[in-house]
Amino acid sequence: MNIDRVEELIRPGLIGMRGYDPIEPIDVLERELGRRIVKLDGNENPYLSSPYAREVLAGFPYYHIYPDPLQRNLREALSDYTGFPPEGIVAGNGSDELIDLILRLFVSEGDEVLNAPPTFGMYPFLVTVCGGKLVDVLRKGDFSLDLAGLRAAVSPRTRVMFIASPNNPTGDVVTADDVRQLLETGIVVAVDEAYFEFGNGTVAALVREYANLFVLRTFSKWAGLAGLRVGYCLCHDRLASHMLTIKQPYNVNVAGEAAAIASLQDIDYLRGNVEKLKRERDRLSAGLASFPWLHPYPSQANFVLCRVDEKRYGGSETTARKLRDGLRKWGILVRFYQSEDLKDCLRISAGLPEDTDALLEAISEVWNEL
Ligand code: PMP
Repeated sequence: MNIDRVEELIRPGLIGMRGYDPIEPIDVLERELGRRIVKLDGNENPYLSSPYAREVLAGFPYYHIYPDPLQRNLREALSDYTGFPPEGIVAGNGSDELIDLILRLFVSEGDEVLNAPPTFGMYPFLVTVCGGKLVDVLRKGDFSLDLAGLRAAVSPRTRVMFIASPNNPTGDVVTADDVRQLLETGIVVAVDEAYFEFGNGTVAALVREYANLFVLRTFSKWAGLAGLRVGYCLCHDRLASHMLTIKQPYNVNVAGEAAAIASLQDIDYLRGNVEKLKRERDRLSAGLASFPWLHPYPSQANFVLCRVDEKRYGGSETTARKLRDGLRKWGILVRFYQSEDLKDCLRISAGLPEDTDALLEAISEVWNEL
């Protein structure tokens, strides 16, 4: 069989699709650069996962048994943590999977999904994969949501809207009043609180009032379990049961489940790390702001978005990109975006104090050489 003929069978919306920008594994990079990497591009937790969780995983006896499709123990533990009943909680293989499941539950070919860029790139990627139509309503100049624009963009084909809060990459938080206005449109609103533990607000209480609200959370950031892939959502009980019905039965693996439960039992330790990261984020922000040509945005997450003044480049060859490239030679990774609205910005994760020191020193060296 000719492969061209087989490719013709692929769904038309997917054949030329650009994939999600993959991150490079740290060991590959260390080999390439020949030095220790300071990884500030993925919003991961530099304090690692809980030692207790790692001990539990080392002694875990049931790797040969499939996980519980109904995630009973994990949902119970999450209920204790969140104060929501287990019936209104579903765990996913990272919150990425929950984004995918929400789309699968509500979006048929050609249905519309509202997105508020600049925001998390997983939303457009997964909307494309499921055959939905992405409708972008850009944030305003200060990156706050265009509420009127979002409400006006709701059409009879609109099913879902994604709002990240704190938003990645801008770090700002949506208010409960704003979310109420969006919920009143009647479409499904998914508020993605992946960075909730680093901020000062949540809209979770609105789940009790609005049946069209999902709140998404993750263990990837505050609990340092990005590699094990555990996220969860809070929603109406009946929506939770639809999500449980359509998900793959063994979506959260036994290691992820055991580690998440153990993390919740070691919560003071993990909260201590969150506090350290919040302090480091603020120190990072102040350090960046001490350079007159860098302009950090306020952040309630574990990263800071920073605008970079243009030194002497043009087009897509921005100073921000040059700075990213220069830092990489120092073994320091930060996140750069190609998109028009962010091409003069860098997103930098809060790391260890010595990471911030190394970054700030490297920034001034690299800038002088630009
Ligand atoms: N939502 C947002 C806003 C994120 O930034 C991320 C991680 N980059 C995720 C969700 C994904 O989290 P998880 O690792 O749980 O899939």
